[in-house]
Amino acid sequence: MSEIIKTTAVFQQLAESIQYVSKHSPFYQTHFSKETVKELTPERFRTLPFTSKEDLSLNNTDFLCVPTNQIAEYVTTSGTSGKPVTIYLTKNDLIRLGKNEKESFELTGAKAGDVFQLMTTIDKQFMAGLAYYLGVQELNAGMIRIGPGVPALQWNSILENKPTILIAVPSFLVNLIDYAKQNNIDINQTSVRSVICIGEPIREDDLSENVLAKRIHADWNVELFSTYASTEMGAAFTECTAHQGGHLNEGLIYLEVLDDDGKDVPNGEKGEIVISTLGTEGTPLIRYKTGDVARVYRDACPCGRTSPRVGPIIGRKNQMIKFKGTTIFPPSIYEIFDSRSEVSCYKIEVSKDYLGHDTITILLENRIEHSPVMTQIIEDCKAKLRVVPHFVFLESDYLRSQVFKNHMRKPEKIIFK
Ligand SMILES: [Zn+2]
Repeated sequence: MSEIIKTTAVFQQLAESIQYVSKHSPFYQTHFSKETVKELTPERFRTLPFTSKEDLSLNNTDFLCVPTNQIAEYVTTSGTSGKPVTIYLTKNDLIRLGKNEKESFELTGAKAGDVFQLMTTIDKQFMAGLAYYLGVQELNAGMIRIGPGVPALQWNSILENKPTILIAVPSFLVNLIDYAKQNNIDINQTSVRSVICIGEPIREDDLSENVLAKRIHADWNVELFSTYASTEMGAAFTECTAHQGGHLNEGLIYLEVLDDDGKDVPNGEKGEIVISTLGTEGTPLIRYKTGDVARVYRDACPCGRTSPRVGPIIGRKNQMIKFKGTTIFPPSIYEIFDSRSEVSCYKIEVSKDYLGHDTITILLENRIEHSPVMTQIIEDCKAKLRVVPHFVFLESDYLRSQVFKNHMRKPEKIIFK
């Protein structure tokens, strides 16, 4: 048995998933060699070809493993990279999704009787909102579905319905804090105990709080939990109360974290997250390359659990910016702007110039164009990025409408043109 495939039971589950897709998915029937699948061993598993995002996008319906009349939900990927892809879920997949989310909530200390306020989309074929809803029901807790945006509505509900846990995009919490300050709401005297954060990192590479989390905690004494998930895996990595990386749910996902040569990275090192789904019926994926780069921790967590954990996503393989001879991942740009309380909204545009080089333009609110903070921002860019991008200043409401778009599930902080 290889070091990473820890037990026969884990391998058995993995082997069942591979047999299942080889039988039912037109894509995998040709993607995997029949001989390898027939006599599968942990070593042979490591020789199976990867599945890329492009494979899934180009052959979307060939991944479907059930007749269409067994599809209970059609969900789509967020479309942050390329064309949205549909993931088909059966009724059993919905049960699996609810179980995943219940167990994720339990990692954060949530229990029956808690009241959750959902500040994300639940419609528009969005899996996460649906997963949260199913998980809350599975936990025997309460759910208030407010949806994204509208700080006034969120606060009315918090004061009226007294939720204990919020589910939110962390940068939206900054808007909630601003609204509370302007309207004399004492945020530290409410029922809210913790926030399950989605969509953006709240930790640095060393698992300490990043500038966004620090900015929230400067005003609001709530426990923040980081999560990492994707529609394709239909499962989440969620932090426990030790905040030492998001725990893998070992019954639902088989995890590999690989270097550029396809080898497992050592404990604490970074690599690409590659997942195989366990127990899915509609759209199972085997050795799926997520493109997300993170550190993996395989030592025991202070909470006592031994499941592997992943740190914050350091970058996405397709979001690497090559700018004037340096390589930049978007989070290092976010940090410069998230750390300045004067900046409440910004957007990064990455485009190619006529020579094919990446250029970076930062859209900012015009009220800060002549303020002293701009000098500091330029100094930060020189120090942290080693280059100064272009700046464009826009009217505040217009810029907000370009970042918090109604049809988008996350703030659109960056766009690759
Ligand atoms: Zn833990």
